Amino acid sequence: MPYSLDSTHRIQHIEQASKEQFDLIVIGGGITGSGIAFDAASRGMKVLLLEKQDFAAGTSSRSTKLIHGGLRYLKQLQFGLVRQVGKERAILYKNASYLVHPEKLLLPIYKKGSLGYYSTSLALWLYDLLAGVQKIESRIMLSKNKTLAEEPLLNNQELLGSGMYYEYRTDDARLTIEVLKTAVHYGAQAYNYTQVDDFIVKNGRVVGVEASDSINNSKHKFLAKYVVNATGPWVDDLRNKNSEDLNKHLFLTKGVHLVFSQERIPLKHSMYFDAPDGRMVFAIKREGKVYIGTTDTEYHDSKESPVCSIEDKTYVLNAINTMFVNLDLQMVDIESCWAGLRPLIHEQGKSPSELSRKDEVFMAENGLISIAGGKLTAFRNMAQKIVDRIESKEKRFGLCKTHDLLLVGSTDIAAKGCQDLIDGLSKYKAKFADYKNLERLVHSYGNVSFEMMELAKDDKSLVYTEIDYCIKNESLEHLADYYSRRSGKILFASDEVKLNHKDLLSHFSKLKGLSADQISNEENLFEKLKKEALVNP
Ligand code: FAD
Repeated sequence: MPYSLDSTHRIQHIEQASKEQFDLIVIGGGITGSGIAFDAASRGMKVLLLEKQDFAAGTSSRSTKLIHGGLRYLKQLQFGLVRQVGKERAILYKNASYLVHPEKLLLPIYKKGSLGYYSTSLALWLYDLLAGVQKIESRIMLSKNKTLAEEPLLNNQELLGSGMYYEYRTDDARLTIEVLKTAVHYGAQAYNYTQVDDFIVKNGRVVGVEASDSINNSKHKFLAKYVVNATGPWVDDLRNKNSEDLNKHLFLTKGVHLVFSQERIPLKHSMYFDAPDGRMVFAIKREGKVYIGTTDTEYHDSKESPVCSIEDKTYVLNAINTMFVNLDLQMVDIESCWAGLRPLIHEQGKSPSELSRKDEVFMAENGLISIAGGKLTAFRNMAQKIVDRIESKEKRFGLCKTHDLLLVGSTDIAAKGCQDLIDGLSKYKAKFADYKNLERLVHSYGNVSFEMMELAKDDKSLVYTEIDYCIKNESLEHLADYYSRRSGKILFASDEVKLNHKDLLSHFSKLKGLSADQISNEENLFEKLKKEALVNP
């Protein structure tokens, strides 16, 4: 049976995979691992990716969800990095325009802020230049009065003016899953809920892994010529298992985001502003909500489920209430939240915010390749670096092609942005009442979303169709994974989730043929998700 991300054929596929010899096993189904699988498979390598949770359940669904040019790198005078991420941003916009959207950001400037009016103007000009920003997206500078006209909610005390510039917004989990689906399109295999427990070593070389599948409670051995450890915050756990000397090791920091309704924070623009301690904070508009973050604090707790503490929430609330004086936001105003861990590389004597966000590759003597650090934005470049290393030994798969490859949901007129896809929605206005949901589908699945709209007969059956699609094409194993990483609804449409859960669980259970115990497990997972993400579960 040909391989696909169809969860109904999981048992047969995984058993078959354990009989095959792969060129490359990638451990970790975040953006780093998915990007490596995409690059390697598109060069013709036989690739297997293993993820112990759901795809993107680690840091890759817990970021600020921006494809940045890296303005903060400019402050640290890292010009090369700004140029590099700017280039990556342009490539991604071309190849995955349904997932990446230009977002105008207002950067208010205050008398005692971290940048002055003219230095901000110069910095944003340089940023645009280095990041190769198109002319229509060039920064503009606004006077105090114009700034207040653009954003009347701002604290006007000591306000000098503002800069307006562009970042690109995405959905990190969707981006990861779409990259993974593209890897599969080029021949890769990928299994979620399959944890790598140990390495298989022969004649001093890593030649495979032992793994356990928690969906079917089965154990497997998989063989490959190369193994890459792309497990983000867990990278050192696997390096330890491989008995490596960790002279350079990870330093984890936590960052949280809080979500509010746009009625409570009626921002006209997304913003990037100073918190009272001088750190910069984003406020990003999305689907009728505004999310604000992030923090950057040392972290030593559970890596599987980091949570937003009262201190984290207080820090972000304080930053908002200082910047927007009349809002008086309280804990009860927070609708949902998420926390993520940055897998940074430890540097003696540096504070969390000063640590570099650059990626680092570790080569073990027995051949295990580990990669950590980096950014969502730079995933393609990081992947190229890893696969180039392998190809420098193999010399049979050729050069990286991913800069020219469209992701699976893209149309070939992607350079126009996804306006062509949005224009195509007018045809479905009569059939579906919830237009916002149609836009969300396009921004999640690209042109595949039209197949869903063709199949469904009304709004309710469109959600069913989406879930069916995820089971058959995105290895959807639990309904909670649809609410979180497949649709983002738990964060941005939690009322709808709570209202429709019973109905959707019944549909999901029928499709998957779940037993009473399994249905009860689905309920437990849903309760756990609500507790983690919602302030009023
Ligand atoms: P992860 O996404 O954590 O993936 C690692 C995966 O490995 C996990 O899914 C885990 O379950 C799996 N795994 C672990 N152990 C095993 C095992 N034994 N077997 C199998 N699988 C295993 N970057 C940007 O470009 N833009 C932003 O706006 C941005 N904002 C950020 C905000 C915050 C708060 C944080 C924390 C990060 C942000 N980043 C941003 C950085 C970016 O999110 C990360 O660099 C990126 O997501 C890391 O991806 P990863 O694949 O390396 O790690």
